[in-house]
Amino acid sequence: MFVRLYGCNLECSWCDTPYTWATTKNKIEKHVTAYARGGEPYSKKDNEHVMTTDAIGDKLAALYPNIRDGQSIIVVSGGEPLMQQEALIELCYSLYGEFSTAIHIETAGTIEPDRDLTDAVDQFVVSPKLSHSGNPLKKRYKPDVIQSFAHMGSKAHFKFVVELNAGMDGEDFKEIDAMVERHGIDANRVYIMPQGTTPTEIILGAQSIVDKVLERGYNLSLRTHTLLWGDERGK
Ligand code: SF4
Repeated sequence: MFVRLYGCNLECSWCDTPYTWATTKNKIEKHVTAYARGGEPYSKKDNEHVMTTDAIGDKLAALYPNIRDGQSIIVVSGGEPLMQQEALIELCYSLYGEFSTAIHIETAGTIEPDRDLTDAVDQFVVSPKLSHSGNPLKKRYKPDVIQSFAHMGSKAHFKFVVELNAGMDGEDFKEIDAMVERHGIDANRVYIMPQGTTPTEIILGAQSIVDKVLERGYNLSLRTHTLLWGDERGK
């Protein structure tokens, strides 16, 4: 189950959750389609949900009554969840206390996690952004932060989003390989995911990159929720 938190310190042009951050004129201009269905820009006011940790737990339990089945995983994503570290620690302990589920945190790897947060989560999924995201290098790549996650061993996996043509020109893979080598990340902790918000984009993207993924010993990640529901929210 996904819990998406508001706010992001990056502005990826192809972001699939622009409603979490593209709510000002300046930010909207950074996104290719940062408009709600119907042609209106996303509004912070419309999308603002200030929720207590208890309310988040109640909402999850209502969405999926079998959440205590011992196999569920709660993935806290965004936006950038680490922008709210203090509240995030409280949320992790609250959700684990209520459901005994594994708690994963998705992050773009630009903010160092506090020790208390690292203790509170089962798994970080770190997704450094590549040049095609449109973010300046200094903003999207923080070597010291990536190194901290790299040192965590199996507690931190790395997920890279690549473009549809990445299998042909290989530019995305050059950036990924360089980062993996520089930080000494094991190939089996690296997941490659095609960029896209429709099943067709995901399948075509996966077919264009699968050989490059396999020859490096990386993992191929298909976005199951996108294959099933496209970018429909609330599923
Ligand atoms: S880091 Fe994630 S949430 Fe933030 S803009 Fe990029 S894709 Fe969107």
